[in-house]
Amino acid sequence: MNLSRRELLTTFLGLPFALQACHETSQHFPTGEIVGQDVSLGHILREGRVFEVPAENWETKQIAIIGGGIAGLSAAWALKKEGVQNFVVLELEKQIGGTSQSRVSEPVAYPWGAHYLPVPFAENVELIELLDEMSLIEGRGQNGDVIVGEQYLCREPEERIFYKGRWYEGLYLSAGASDEDKRQLAEFQRRIDSLVDWRDARGRRAFVVPIADCSTDAEITLLDRTSFAEWLRQNGFNSERLLWYCDYACRDDYGLKLEQTSAWAGLFYFCSRVRKRGDESQPFITFPEGNGRFVNHFVSQVGANIRRAYTVVSIVPTADGVDVICLAGDELRGFHCQKAIFASPIFTAPYIIRGFAENAPFAAREFQHNAWFVANLFLKDRPKPRFEKDFPLAWDNVLYDSPSLGYVTATHQKGIDYGPTVLTYYYPMCHEPDGRTQLFNYDWRSLSDVCLTDLSRAHPDIRDLTTRIDIMRWGHAMISPRPGFIWGGVRDTAVRPYRNIHFAHTDLSGIALFEEAFYHGLRAAREVN
Ligand SMILES: Cc1cc2nc3c(=O)[nH]c(=O)nc-3n(C[C@H](O)[C@H](O)[C@H](O)COP(=O)(O)OP(=O)(O)OC[C@H]3O[C@@H](n4cnc5c(N)ncnc54)[C@H](O)[C@@H]3O)c2cc1C
Repeated sequence: MNLSRRELLTTFLGLPFALQACHETSQHFPTGEIVGQDVSLGHILREGRVFEVPAENWETKQIAIIGGGIAGLSAAWALKKEGVQNFVVLELEKQIGGTSQSRVSEPVAYPWGAHYLPVPFAENVELIELLDEMSLIEGRGQNGDVIVGEQYLCREPEERIFYKGRWYEGLYLSAGASDEDKRQLAEFQRRIDSLVDWRDARGRRAFVVPIADCSTDAEITLLDRTSFAEWLRQNGFNSERLLWYCDYACRDDYGLKLEQTSAWAGLFYFCSRVRKRGDESQPFITFPEGNGRFVNHFVSQVGANIRRAYTVVSIVPTADGVDVICLAGDELRGFHCQKAIFASPIFTAPYIIRGFAENAPFAAREFQHNAWFVANLFLKDRPKPRFEKDFPLAWDNVLYDSPSLGYVTATHQKGIDYGPTVLTYYYPMCHEPDGRTQLFNYDWRSLSDVCLTDLSRAHPDIRDLTTRIDIMRWGHAMISPRPGFIWGGVRDTAVRPYRNIHFAHTDLSGIALFEEAFYHGLRAAREVN
């Protein structure tokens, strides 16, 4: 896109900062590239072509799994555990893992998307089974909850926030909070506590993971009809720093702003991982490569069943099963199967499944995604603290005045607090009307400039320290829990099979989380076996 630097920085970082940055920042650039999937593959799916597979390119499988993200890999893992061998996982990209993929590098592995999993409650038996298989669990506490090995839990300092030239501990900006700010924070916490303790007549919690276990009582689900911004207004919350904190939560977990997010989803963020009133949220399990660790574990179990760079271009329901057709390089390959698990983003179903668009069982277009860009910065050394007593580099480092989410430090979990590192910078494209189209208008140089300029607020030496930046543009990063989506009804119909095709993707929960993808993967595996 042919924009001046000032226009570019204004679009991504806001006018006041853009004006300042255009004067101050040196234009030194490291090397790097755009990584990730080729967007032209999406166009092939939209063309609606009929694909003829040569007779010798057909294979027969019991089950085909379309998509090698957490949902597809979880389904594969569960099938294998049940003794099913004759299945194939078809993944469009060369890299497996979808939005939880990662890479290996020196000095440390790093994530391209998902980077943590909160320790599950004891009730989430199947997820605990996975953690156990990965030897992450050391035992059980008195209340039955699992104890995860300390080395796998996020180290201190976990979070810090940059505000007016200094770093402070935590994500809520306590420094300089007025009495009214503190009162509102305490009142907000009181509202969260009562929702944490809330139970319906069947004993179900208002908010819990997986969402399938949440109460369906109207008292709670009606919260989905308004935005989180509106809920906060209606409840008398107007403290700027509290609103910032809630807005940050929505951008971080959903890629949406406060006014774009359903109040149900906003409250889910604060309540679903808290066992009981007054408890802290469950601790985070994390690794340098983020949730790539789980992907690698699944690959260690089902790697032989995975075909990478196999784009499924057509799924044809037949009288006694389903034919799945892929583009692999420049060859067409087909699988005659009894059943298929569709673990790809749900909005793609009408483009791929023959007959779906003509007689749609549900409105796939209601599954709307947002876009993100993620940059991995390779640093030859740590940024210098600006003040001797500044709060030190943490795992998650957030800039109060930035529309980005700041960065996560890959070496943090390794306990290496000096020398080279990799920083993973996250920027959700909350721009209306179409953040995705906007994102794909920008090239590597523009997005690198946004990232380096943004981080230079806190780290004036960032350009000199960065030797390389790679960038992933996630066009369809996360399902958007906009008002009305989660409890609007479409998820209930989409979760049912269409002919011999069973759907499994985190989209079906309305919230993009490891646990939800895992839940749907296991559910679909049970259905097909
Ligand atoms: C930037 C970012 C940060 C995140 N951070 C976290 C986090 O910290 N913790 C967390 O729990 N979650 C996080 N998430 C959410 C994360 O998406 C989920 O945890 C989970 O990985 C979703 O898995 P999935 O399998 O449902 O979907 P996806 O990851 O979307 O996987 C779908 C797979 O299907 C493949 N596919 C699509 N079309 C085709 C086709 N036609 N043929 C073959 N294959 C196809 C895709 O290439 C992809 O690999 C984050 C997401 C993003 C984008």
